[in-house]
Amino acid sequence: MSYEIPFNRPWSSGREVEYVQACATSWHTSGNGPFTKRCEAILEDVLGAPRVLLTTSCTDALEMCALLLRLQPGDEVIVPSFTFVSTANAFAIFGARPVFADVRPDTLNIDETRVESLITQRTRAIVVVHYGGVACEMDTISAIAEHHGVTVIEDNAHGLLATYKGRQLGTLGALATQSFHETKNITCGEGGALVVNNPELVERAEIIRDKGTDRARFLRGQVDKYSWVDLGSSYLPSDLTAAFLQAQLEAREDIQQRRAEIWQRYESELRAWAESCGVALPHVPTDCEQAFHLFYVLLPDVETRTRFIQHLKARRIQSVFHYVPLHLSDMGRQLGGHDGQCQVSEDVAIRLARLPFHTGLTQDEQTRVIDAICEFEI
Ligand SMILES: *Cc1c(COP(=O)(O)O)cnc(C)c1O
Repeated sequence: MSYEIPFNRPWSSGREVEYVQACATSWHTSGNGPFTKRCEAILEDVLGAPRVLLTTSCTDALEMCALLLRLQPGDEVIVPSFTFVSTANAFAIFGARPVFADVRPDTLNIDETRVESLITQRTRAIVVVHYGGVACEMDTISAIAEHHGVTVIEDNAHGLLATYKGRQLGTLGALATQSFHETKNITCGEGGALVVNNPELVERAEIIRDKGTDRARFLRGQVDKYSWVDLGSSYLPSDLTAAFLQAQLEAREDIQQRRAEIWQRYESELRAWAESCGVALPHVPTDCEQAFHLFYVLLPDVETRTRFIQHLKARRIQSVFHYVPLHLSDMGRQLGGHDGQCQVSEDVAIRLARLPFHTGLTQDEQTRVIDAICEFEI
């Protein structure tokens, strides 16, 4: 089945090929070249963060967080159940135990009122995900973390350029991770970044990204040879990847403007339909400026969702569901997850459908999606 209106389609600013070509002919294609440095400078400037390191993915940036915290088997990390696999897996591969928290029924973000009761002597970190680029209730979460001496990590894969009470998402935890996967707002195929907000972690973050070596110190002339000084891995992307990413980062305002218009049109033209048939649309608290990462509808029950997706499919429009709650996944169950453990996650996961949402979605395509949905009878 090929869709006329797919759920996602990559968007080009028009400069990606030019930059990749410039990189390819410059003879510096490995990491940490001029494109890597420019991308990092743009992100440091936009976020106002002390150091941003490009990485091969958001998943890898999360693994770097686990290494930075020196997580040990038996340590616990609190994560929302309603999230992508990597939020938990990146810590689990180092032997840490993910402890699943339920989400709020309105924003689908980690429920800040349920976090404190999950903290034990072994809790080392709280990982938050700003679902759809709408901020978690960070004041409450940060206060709990501080009280218990636990590190806050933001998995900010959805939330680059969004704010919470005027502060950039990605700067609210000691560490934050970004994704530039093809499905995200700003992309380079596969890629990510680690935002290091705690200056004390910068030097080790550089070492961890560079296979556990002090190569960064060597390049700055601080040591006369570099060697193996800590644990690490190969988390540095090629400058070819960074060249593509630079074109996208430079177009960030255009990208966000286009996505905002699509999101606002869906919201305003679907509101009457949604109200008339008991469907919930995304909720954005007033102190949050969101990132326009996705648009979803919450249907009354799983049967209606199946019919809704079929209804759109018959019109060659692709609607998809989102996360399987992690505590009910095969791995989650092996870690002790069970039915009823995170009831809001379980409930929304079977009722949520995402609409086609990408930077290049045309006006005509938007009209077709909206018309098709308004014809759907609950
Ligand atoms: C996409 C995504 C990731 C993984 O990003 P990669 O760059 O593909 O590793 C992690 N967490 C969340 C919430 C995501 O949406």
